[in-house]
Amino acid sequence: MTAGAAGRRSWHTGWMSVTDPVTAAGTAEQAAGEPCVLLKLGEIVLKGRNRQQFERLLEGNVRAAVRDTAVPVELVHREGVVVLRVPRQERTPAEHATLVDQVAARVSDVPGIVRVCRPLLVPKTPEAAVAAAIRLTEGTSGAFAVRARRRDKRFPVTSSELAVLIGREIQAAHGLPVNLKHPDTEVFVEVDQREVFVFTGGQPGQGGLPVGMSGRAVALMSGGIDSPVAAYRMMRRGLRCYFLHFSGMPLTGPESIYKAYALVRGLDRFQGGSRLFVVPFGKAQQALATSGADRLQVMAQRRLMLKTAAVLARRVGGAALVTGDSLGQVSSQTLPNITALDDAVSLPILRPLLGWDKTEIMAEARRIRTLAISELPDQDCCTLLTPRRVETRARIDDLRRIEGRLDADELAEQLAATAQEYRPE
Ligand code: ATP
Ligand code: MG
Repeated sequence: MTAGAAGRRSWHTGWMSVTDPVTAAGTAEQAAGEPCVLLKLGEIVLKGRNRQQFERLLEGNVRAAVRDTAVPVELVHREGVVVLRVPRQERTPAEHATLVDQVAARVSDVPGIVRVCRPLLVPKTPEAAVAAAIRLTEGTSGAFAVRARRRDKRFPVTSSELAVLIGREIQAAHGLPVNLKHPDTEVFVEVDQREVFVFTGGQPGQGGLPVGMSGRAVALMSGGIDSPVAAYRMMRRGLRCYFLHFSGMPLTGPESIYKAYALVRGLDRFQGGSRLFVVPFGKAQQALATSGADRLQVMAQRRLMLKTAAVLARRVGGAALVTGDSLGQVSSQTLPNITALDDAVSLPILRPLLGWDKTEIMAEARRIRTLAISELPDQDCCTLLTPRRVETRARIDDLRRIEGRLDADELAEQLAATAQEYRPE
């Protein structure tokens, strides 16, 4: 802050966490504004009369996420935005800013938020907004643009007047050119009911809808690459996912369970409170083989997994199943086979990756940080008892006949009853 700009300010009065303006420290702090977090809510603001319910849900999810950081936070809900403030208390500005950054990083994983901004919160005067804007553009180069808006229309200066005023002051302070069409730096000024937020840039959020808004589902989680991505995509559409993993135990070791556990723990940051159910599937696979599944072994296994998942869904209130199927990726995912899988259960099977290529799925897995875990070696139960040739056009009648021999529905009930529950939070 230049001495000249500081001298122009006429707005110091007992405002919040601002310290005594007559001391040098107080002046610097006040000019700096109070760092906070501003969340832009995406689609949910478009949802008309259900909007309040959605906003409450998102607020709860944000609060739960923030609790993980153990940073005390005050949450304020405004038109289409949520503001998170960390009380200054005895903290130095640097300590305070670090905590605010921690909160911003944590909430950027919460679905339903399109943008996470880190504004300076300043008193509600044009002068304060100018000072903050000058400070934020210190050290930037290239052209800039000021984007101003008022959530409080009673503010004495209109948005465009405010933008012009701030733009002129930034130019005077730093000598930067204005370019409204293609700026290198955008300075956002948002006038709220009680204060003004000034910020540049911001980080993209997860987008989507708050978890819980679309209900609950059981996500079938192998240790592979696809299923965690599928679960993530559905969480992002507002579904709370309960995870179900089938291990090959006792025919295999427990490695796949460790992977499923690690994956769910990683995905938990998007929804919180995750639960993983693990079912030892080896014996059931043997039973299917014994009842002559042969080339239909893989399909019969997948149907039994789905039936077991449906039993579990009933228990946890899930209204759908989620899988990582991608059309044509492997033999169990041809169109006739997908049709035969749908026939196994009456619940809808959601397949968010159906139209995705493997490279797209892998890129998303990298972004959500599940790829490295998925790539760890393990013995997947599906690779047990796999026939040399897998049927790509399974007939539903044949599958039903095999299932009739061992009462698959009853077996699914028994398998669900053996599920071990974990809470990898
Ligand atoms: P993934 O990478 O998710 O393992 P995949 O390409 O290996 O998928 P499949 O083995 O045919 O494909 O499995 C398709 C889907 O079936 C998986 O995405 C998952 O939803 C479910 N599934 C497969 N194996 C298991 C398992 N052991 N436990 C739970 N679900 C499974
Ligand atoms: Mg797999």
